[in-house]
Amino acid sequence: MPPATPRPTTVWRPRRLIVTRAARTFSHGRAILDRAAALGVEIVELPGDRLNLAFPDDPARAYAEAKLTLAVVVAPPSKRRLQPIAPSADWRVDLAEGCPAHCSYCYLAGSLKGPPITRVYANLDEILDSLPAYLGQGTITSRSTTRAHEGTTYEASCYTDPLALEPLTGSLSAAIAWFGRWNADAQLRFTSKFADVAPLLTLDHGRRTRMRASINPRAFARFEGGTARVADRLQALRQMALAGYPIGLTIAPIIAADGWEAAYATLLEEAAASLANVPGVDLTIELITHRFTAGSKAILDSWYPGSALDMTAANRTTKRTKFGTEKQVYDADTMRTLRRFFHDHIATALPMARILYWT
Ligand code: SF4
Repeated sequence: MPPATPRPTTVWRPRRLIVTRAARTFSHGRAILDRAAALGVEIVELPGDRLNLAFPDDPARAYAEAKLTLAVVVAPPSKRRLQPIAPSADWRVDLAEGCPAHCSYCYLAGSLKGPPITRVYANLDEILDSLPAYLGQGTITSRSTTRAHEGTTYEASCYTDPLALEPLTGSLSAAIAWFGRWNADAQLRFTSKFADVAPLLTLDHGRRTRMRASINPRAFARFEGGTARVADRLQALRQMALAGYPIGLTIAPIIAADGWEAAYATLLEEAAASLANVPGVDLTIELITHRFTAGSKAILDSWYPGSALDMTAANRTTKRTKFGTEKQVYDADTMRTLRRFFHDHIATALPMARILYWT
């Protein structure tokens, strides 16, 4: 397949950047500030470390302003204590929190509190230097007979899309290079709905970072405002594979809306075409069905009042989590049908792929 012509990429430009006093003491924080200033972003230098965020009472305006706000802060020690993150990885490592995109199913709505600003961490070196203490301590992928060979895994996409922020932060490149230098049985993982991988292609990654493209059919693009085109994400993934990175597809969230079979069959064919003739490609697939909680639904309804995304009780059942909370997932019949479909179609379209999990 001839490579698609990459489209010019646009750098996310927040309207204002707020930087705390402590964040300015880190060279990484100052570099972010300088990049934003060069783009003409308004810079607000706080005299202290408290973010005093005042947003309009009108929820739509508050949402819009928050999404255009980038805060550069210092991750406190409590945030640098890593947590397990099943089923993706042994440990969650946060380089940032929040995302500038506008997905009407965004899982962050149920995870992060307050207005949806994006926070990036200035003390990146401290965050990375804390990782070796967790080596060999993992209980998720390290205890899996099919995944233990990945080494201790660290997931960087739990609370953000790190590639979306990369042109401003450089944090992802720094983390990839850090894992490349770390001569250990460990792997950094990230997934993204963005496509500007150019700065990552020449890094000395040592095959210790796996990038996954998070994809959904074009028919559902209306649910993914502000993200890169799916064709561009797949093209970016191909470029990463050609640069020697292990890669993956995160098919998420799988949405059982009208026409889903044809839409996902086409998506898998497009993925297969994009990844054709990549020598020795190391490809994994993660399959995550759409789910929501009462809390995340209420927030998403307020953020995206016109969204056509179905969050009614149709085809749903309540699942209790191990933390005692409840979420709405597809009912058993729908899950069975979806699961069979994906396993069958992946076996045909992408026989070289290893499915990591279904949830
Ligand atoms: Fe949320 Fe991911 Fe969409 Fe960003 S790209 S808004 S993190 S779902």
